[in-house]
Amino acid sequence: MIKFLDLKSINKRFDKAFENEFSQFLSSGQYILGQGVVKFEENFANYCGTKYCIGVSNGLDALIIVFKAYMQLGKLHKGDEVIVPANTFIATILALVDVGLKPVFVEPNKKTFNCEAVEIEKSITNKTKAIVIVHLYGQLAEMDSIIKLSKEKNLLLIEDAAQAHGAISDTGKKAGNLSDVATFSFYPAKNLGALGDAGAITTNDKDLAIICKQIRNYGSDTKYKNERLGVNNRLDEVQALFLNVKLKALDNDNEQRRHVAKRYLKEINNPKIKLPFYSGSTNHVFHLFVVLIDDRTHFINYLKAKGIESAIHYPIPPHKQKAFEVFNGLQLPITEQIHNNCVSLPMSPIMTPNDIDAIITTINEYC
Ligand SMILES: *Cc1c(COP(=O)(O)O)cnc(C)c1O
Repeated sequence: MIKFLDLKSINKRFDKAFENEFSQFLSSGQYILGQGVVKFEENFANYCGTKYCIGVSNGLDALIIVFKAYMQLGKLHKGDEVIVPANTFIATILALVDVGLKPVFVEPNKKTFNCEAVEIEKSITNKTKAIVIVHLYGQLAEMDSIIKLSKEKNLLLIEDAAQAHGAISDTGKKAGNLSDVATFSFYPAKNLGALGDAGAITTNDKDLAIICKQIRNYGSDTKYKNERLGVNNRLDEVQALFLNVKLKALDNDNEQRRHVAKRYLKEINNPKIKLPFYSGSTNHVFHLFVVLIDDRTHFINYLKAKGIESAIHYPIPPHKQKAFEVFNGLQLPITEQIHNNCVSLPMSPIMTPNDIDAIITTINEYC
């Protein structure tokens, strides 16, 4: 059986280093916001090229903290409209709704699955205050035109970079450093994954960084002195230690993912399968390799019978979820079509040439 994503084997490569970090952790007795978190924040800010990184509990909390921080700064207010890709993972929308902001869903470009400036501009009203960009499946959105638009319209620009750790734009900047502030998830299945829940916020905005750091820790920098309303959304010390180990392998892992993607793109030639667009640059880290196909259930069952696991990201778009009844009436045909036809092929940095051969041959024999 070729797994969709063999997390156990991915992490097995780091066993020795994890054990080493963990035994140092045991002898340190520092369990909350210790040296591991401080080091990871430094390392990840350096990696992304930003001045600041704040480690938090997960990617959803990272988004919520950022929105709360902008509200406390007076830059966002309850009821403000925020533009967001209609085909994002549910967390982006949950965060907006949680803090009382109004998501305005924008359809993606069919080719890249990402939102573009032209479509975003059509949805801007006098209530729009921010744009959230999601680099979906690991491919950077076309940021130059989006940055220009956000400046012209005086809108905050936020990247949900939970799927794009290490993606580099043509201007040489990394995901997390292409907007006013970015959020990351280190959920185990992400390109940089912890062994539990974890997340981060990156920014070059000092005021915002200070506030986010306070909010994640009861609104406090100094013990028992509370500057503002906060929560407990700290990055766990053990996860930070593990992430420090895995960060060193991220660039190489992303290169391996691109290698798998390039083979799929070059060698899969079944006319029933619509392959994703890839420019060939480092702007894509292939968190997922998503193809489109008309009869997806038939295809998935075929792969399964041949011993190949696949997955669906995602079967139901946010606006059609039961939890979001208020949005159920929206018509977003491009998003709905993607959600009906998408299938994610196995993708990971540890796939063997044999696995890749077998997947390509099996798909090309599908009829
Ligand atoms: C994974 C993900 C999140 C949420 O991250 P968690 O750590 O699971 O809370 C948010 N946005 C996107 C686009 C994601 O893929």
